[in-house]
Amino acid sequence: MEGVVRRRTMRVICSRCTRPEIACVCHGLPEVPLSTNVSILVIQTAAEAKCKIGTAWLLPHVLTNCTIHPARGHSIALATLTNCVLLFPGVNSVPITTYEKKQDVKTVVIIDGTWQSALRMLTSSSLLGTLPQVYIPPSPTPTTPLFRIRRPPTDVPGAVSTAEACAFALETLDSAHGEECGRALRHAVHTFSEVQLNFIRSHRNITTQVPHRTERRGYVAGLYEAPTGGKEEEHKQMDTRTPAR
Ligand SMILES: [Zn+2]
Repeated sequence: MEGVVRRRTMRVICSRCTRPEIACVCHGLPEVPLSTNVSILVIQTAAEAKCKIGTAWLLPHVLTNCTIHPARGHSIALATLTNCVLLFPGVNSVPITTYEKKQDVKTVVIIDGTWQSALRMLTSSSLLGTLPQVYIPPSPTPTTPLFRIRRPPTDVPGAVSTAEACAFALETLDSAHGEECGRALRHAVHTFSEVQLNFIRSHRNITTQVPHRTERRGYVAGLYEAPTGGKEEEHKQMDTRTPAR
């Protein structure tokens, strides 16, 4: 961890990764962000920007050539770009691995939001709709996403987190730096996932030790008790991951 600062809440925050000290992920990040020949433009919905358990925030810590732009005003960010592809599993999308112009791609655009919000954004954006669409083909052998904090959408087979999708895209399109960047991104995602899971487990232990005031009006028995279904039951939050199918 590079350093810490204290906010008014007195919670200790890591100055590099901006996570609470107890959930610092700096040990999973490269010493310095890595350069790429293919740039990444993440267009992030407002809801996703507020979400603390997305993975897009990791990207600028791993890659130099990466921009996260808010969804509002995204056309400005797109206007000056050439040779872009949109990583999105739409009906006109083709596998990124067989995209015929993949040697020419300079920028990969990724929408960071829920599957539904990304679809809404795409259909309402005149510029996004003009970009060639590519998707990450499902692996012939089933693999488990590295990021286990959010459950993948069930109607998008092979869906992975935004950072994992970015790793796959760079590995496919950036022959010079893709392999190294892909490895660094996956390591960062794995670290974040493990740190977050440990944080949640420790928090659960604390909440289960709190004495319950069963006499209070509105008390709900078992509301804060841990689920019993094992790791898969730990996090039933719906995933927002969009870029793969
Ligand atoms: Zn940190």
